Amino acid sequence: MALRKYVVGNWKMHGTSSDIGEILAIAESARELAEVEVALCVPATLIERAARAAPGFPIGAQDVHQLEKGAHTGSVSTAMLKDAGAAVTIVGHSERRDAHRESDELVRAKAVAALDAGLSVILCVGESLDVREAGNAVATVGEQLRRSIPASLEAPQAFAIAYEPIWAIGTGRVASPADIGEMHAALREALGAAYGGAGADVRILYGGSVSAANAAEIFAVANVDGALVGGASLTAEKFLPIVEAAAKCGGSVETAAADS
Ligand code: PEP
Repeated sequence: MALRKYVVGNWKMHGTSSDIGEILAIAESARELAEVEVALCVPATLIERAARAAPGFPIGAQDVHQLEKGAHTGSVSTAMLKDAGAAVTIVGHSERRDAHRESDELVRAKAVAALDAGLSVILCVGESLDVREAGNAVATVGEQLRRSIPASLEAPQAFAIAYEPIWAIGTGRVASPADIGEMHAALREALGAAYGGAGADVRILYGGSVSAANAAEIFAVANVDGALVGGASLTAEKFLPIVEAAAKCGGSVETAAADS
């Protein structure tokens, strides 16, 4: 069954109160496009203002701590995110796995804590260029997925995977439709092995230099249920054409590129 496309912006360490207008413009246009679900993961300092400015539009965080409270300087808990108005959080982004040494086990604990608290979760996986060039991308990312995902899921619609090849993030290099199709098929299979029939309801997003120019081709690949978008999500002008491409595409469909 085709899943409703999901397009999520990741603002990373960009955005202050002067950017609320962009959030509002994105939220207002997204509301008109029922075929696609849209969310924006903004810096923690903007969550409350963004959620107040755009009621009903899903505002998210980019990370969360796995514990409820305690001596964890600089960290933010699930309850704090919800209190600020967040509906969703990213976990396991490669920039955190790398710069903050986050392990698969920690990413799993964060995902479990967020889901238990009622937040939707986007869990990121992806390979380095070395791994891709050595021909080990599918095996490596499959293992990363198995070690990072919760053991069970109560609401598969609240859980999404983002396949983000590290070498494609912020570089302008995009994985080919054939490589995306191969990886997403393998991830779909792994989700089925982990969750049975519910694995088919977990959306698998592609991330890595998605733009208005390449979005339609990526969304047409089988098992691509949306995108996690960094740089091109910072303005309505760049982000909305990606959302519109997803809306036109509808649910994921089989393509020649993905089958090749
Ligand atoms: C990301 O932030 O997850 C990302 C994919 O960034 P970009 O779209 O800029 O490559």
